[in-house]
Amino acid sequence: MSKVLLIEDEPAIADTLVYALGTECFTVTHTLTGAEGLAAHAADPHDIAILDIGLPDMTGLDVCRKLRESSSIPVLFLTARDGEVDRILGLELGGDDYVTKPFSPREVVARVRAIMRRAGNTPASGNHDAEIPVTCGLSHDGSTMRIRCDGKPLDLTAHEYKLLLVLMERPGRVFTRDQLLDHAWQDPGAVTDRTVDAHVKSIRSKLRAARPGAENLIETRRGLGYSLATEA
Ligand code: CA
Repeated sequence: MSKVLLIEDEPAIADTLVYALGTECFTVTHTLTGAEGLAAHAADPHDIAILDIGLPDMTGLDVCRKLRESSSIPVLFLTARDGEVDRILGLELGGDDYVTKPFSPREVVARVRAIMRRAGNTPASGNHDAEIPVTCGLSHDGSTMRIRCDGKPLDLTAHEYKLLLVLMERPGRVFTRDQLLDHAWQDPGAVTDRTVDAHVKSIRSKLRAARPGAENLIETRRGLGYSLATEA
């Protein structure tokens, strides 16, 4: 489980982020001030920091500078103004990424995942080296990045492969379309929920071609999203 340090003084924003990150299996430490956040990180190092720029006691940029004195922790900034971006990502501070308010929690989670991936510390999902259980005849070979149904390799596109892999990692767990977008697309902002539906449709037809009835392995949970069947 990756540990996220969130320093944000607006409770409404912090609450949605704590919730969104929590559902994605991140452990979040939230503080309202820079000083509290720095103390929390010193006491128990985190894997990534999400820093609001405008904090009551210091700026997020100051917090980043102090964090970087003693660690190379990746930093994602929350900023209210585009004008701050140059400084954030500049060499001086070396922020890893930023999002501009107002943002969707999904966007922040996607950025956190992307940063963790670059840092070589991916928590579950979309990681082709992960141990994937064999479920209902579906198996995964990480070295060839192939998914097989009853031993027959499925001819999947890159996105179809990643999407099915996410479902296979946690059979029975329901993933929302947003979560699938975050996991299987590098830039989820460029696609829509319908994109997920179209890819699921295509995966199902390829499953059906491999084994009639296998298309039902991807279950539609109406109003929620998709999950992988735990039994055929
Ligand atoms: Ca603020």
